[in-house]
Amino acid sequence: MDGNRRLTPRGMITAVALLFFGMSAAAHAQAANSKLRKHAVSLAKPLTVYVLDVEGGQSTLFVTPSHQSLLVDTGWADNGGRDADRIATVAKKAGLDHIDYVLITHFHEDHVGGVPNLNQRIHIGAYIDHGVNREPQDAATQKGWEAYQAVLAQTKAKRILAQPGEAIPLDGLTTTIVSADGNLIANPLPGAGQPNPYCQSSPTHPADQTENARSTGIVMQYGKMRLVDLGDLTWDKEMQLMCPVNKLGMMDVYIVSHHGWDHSGSPAFVDGIAPRVAIMDNGETKGGSPSTWDIIEKSPRLKNLWQLHYSAEGGVKHNVAAPYIANLKGANMKDGSDGNYIRVSAYPDGKLVVYNSRTQQSKTYPAR
Ligand SMILES: [Zn+2]
Repeated sequence: MDGNRRLTPRGMITAVALLFFGMSAAAHAQAANSKLRKHAVSLAKPLTVYVLDVEGGQSTLFVTPSHQSLLVDTGWADNGGRDADRIATVAKKAGLDHIDYVLITHFHEDHVGGVPNLNQRIHIGAYIDHGVNREPQDAATQKGWEAYQAVLAQTKAKRILAQPGEAIPLDGLTTTIVSADGNLIANPLPGAGQPNPYCQSSPTHPADQTENARSTGIVMQYGKMRLVDLGDLTWDKEMQLMCPVNKLGMMDVYIVSHHGWDHSGSPAFVDGIAPRVAIMDNGETKGGSPSTWDIIEKSPRLKNLWQLHYSAEGGVKHNVAAPYIANLKGANMKDGSDGNYIRVSAYPDGKLVVYNSRTQQSKTYPAR
C-alpha cells in the first residue's frame, strides 16, 4: 500500500487496471466458451440477477454460476443504511460472505451513495469505476464522490478503472464493458454490427453534460443468453452505440436504463436490442416515464416488462399488471410492504425464470 500511495490516484488506477485486465474481452470470451462447451450439459447452473429495490436508485447483484459476485451500484446514502441493509440481506440469502466486485456506474448519489454503509456490512474485493467525478459543481454528487474516495483510502479493496472493450473477469461468462467516462466501444461486440433499422425513426437528443453520460455499461453473455445494463447512460450515447450499426446486438434481458426516465431509452436502443424481458429499477416517484414505458412495451420481441415499483407518473395506463410489480406502494412503508426485489435466473440456452419476491411467484420464459 505504501508503494501505491506514491503514485497519483489516476496512475494507481491505471496500473491496477492493466494488471487486472490483462486479458482482452475476446480472449476472455474464448476461454469462457471453451469452458461452456465442456460443462454446458452437465452444469447449466443459472446466472442469478437480483434487481434490488433502492427506491429509484440502482443496485443490481449478479451471482455467477461459479458463485462469483458483481454488484452494480449501491443505492443511496442515509435512510439509516436502508439500501446497504437490503443489499447485504440479499447477498446473504444468495450465500455470499463477500462481494467480489462492486461496479459504480457513475457518481450520482443514487448509485454511489450506499458505498460507506455497504462497506461496513460486507467485505468487498474490488471497486470498478470510470475514474474521476465529472460533475464536481453539483454538491450532492461531489459529496457522494468524496465519501466513496474516503472508503477507497481506508479499505484495502482494489480499484479498477473501467475501459470500454475490457472484460470483467468472471468465470464461465463474458462481461464486456461497453461504455465508461463518456467513451464507447469502438467495434461491435462479437456477432453484432448489423445495420439498425430503428435509427431512422429515432429522434436525436443533445449531448448530456452530467455524470449520467459517463455511466459504465456492461453486456453479459452466458452461452446464448445476453444481458445489458448501461446504468444511467443517456439517449445521445445510446444513439452512438446503436447507429448506424447496432454495436451491442440483441438481448434477452434489459436492465432498464436510468430507472425508466425519458432521458434514456431511445427507440434506436430499445428496439435495436429487442429484449425478451425488461426489468425497470424505478421508484414510486422516480423514473417510469410514460413515453419510456411505451417504447419498451412496444419493442419487437418483448414478452414482459417487470417494474420494481408502481410508477405514480405512469398511472393506470403506464404500469404493468400487479404480478409484474415488486412494490405496489411508496418508499419506507412501515408495514414492511416495501423493499421487494425481482430475481432473474438466466440459463445459457436462453431460458429465463423471473421471480417477484413480493408475490413469491415466478414466470418461466423458454430457451430460444
Ligand atoms: Zn440514477
